[in-house]
Amino acid sequence: LAFTERQLIAAIRRRAGTSRFPRSPARILAGIGDDCAVLRLPSRHDLLITTDFTIEGIHFRREWHSPDSAGHRCLARGLSDVAAIGGQPLAAFLSLALPRNTSPLWTQGFLGGLLRLARQFRVTLAGGDVAESLRGVVADVAVLGMVPQGTAVLRSGAKPGDKLYVTGRLGASAMTLQALRHKGKKVAQARLYRSHFFPQPRVAVGSFLRRRALASAMIDLSDGLSTDLRHICEESAVGALVQAARVPCSPGADLQQALHGGEDYELLFAAPQGARIPALIAGVRVTRIGEVLAGKGRWLLDERGRRLRLEPHGWQHFASGE
Ligand SMILES: [Mg+2]
Repeated sequence: LAFTERQLIAAIRRRAGTSRFPRSPARILAGIGDDCAVLRLPSRHDLLITTDFTIEGIHFRREWHSPDSAGHRCLARGLSDVAAIGGQPLAAFLSLALPRNTSPLWTQGFLGGLLRLARQFRVTLAGGDVAESLRGVVADVAVLGMVPQGTAVLRSGAKPGDKLYVTGRLGASAMTLQALRHKGKKVAQARLYRSHFFPQPRVAVGSFLRRRALASAMIDLSDGLSTDLRHICEESAVGALVQAARVPCSPGADLQQALHGGEDYELLFAAPQGARIPALIAGVRVTRIGEVLAGKGRWLLDERGRRLRLEPHGWQHFASGE
């Protein structure tokens, strides 16, 4: 039997608990159960807000993604956006619409995945809303974060001559999507595909770069390197050259998946030429992949030394090809 709205709110409230993280710099004075959440930020900080939809059939499929993976990925998107600013995530808000027949087991699994990731990053689930959906699960997650005043790392700061870097390895999510299409959900168990089902937002890396003022511009790789690089180039009014041989592909992924596949939730950033960027930040490897150019062109230097146009091939989500 499905949850009633009342039971769903009670379940969320019970599971979210009154989680107050003792070392969190922002105090949650009121959360779930009041008309608004009340947060007290330390003085001289800027507030970060990001919202992301997660829609069944677009961002996940029930036959491919376990409920805890769907819940995890739902929050990971917002945490990754906060990471891309160099911010510290503080609180999350979940608006959840479920079809009438959704099993409590699915709902509990979804909440479990979302809240486990929230605890890992000391993020309080501080409010939201529930409703009935006529078709499919629709979740909207807002994440709040903060940075010391004036220190947010934006997309618009890249300068010609800066070097371009990415964290981790790319293409795992696109490779997993392809495997799911061919082999179905049994791939979910394999270690190779774990980063698609349970991506780790690079919050520690983003905040390291912000604290040391190392990055001139930054973005998280949600749409794919070719598309997200375009976002940085457009906002910064610059061009870019990426060296194919330097792009770190995930095990099993090819260059096309690394360049154009979305949802890897790694960070792409620019740093001035002289900046000393460690090869490993917070346990995550960082790779120089190219440089920022004057002008508007975005280029790929292929293995044979040819300069090709780097066209953005955006993330097509799970609905594509159908
Ligand atoms: Mg983003």
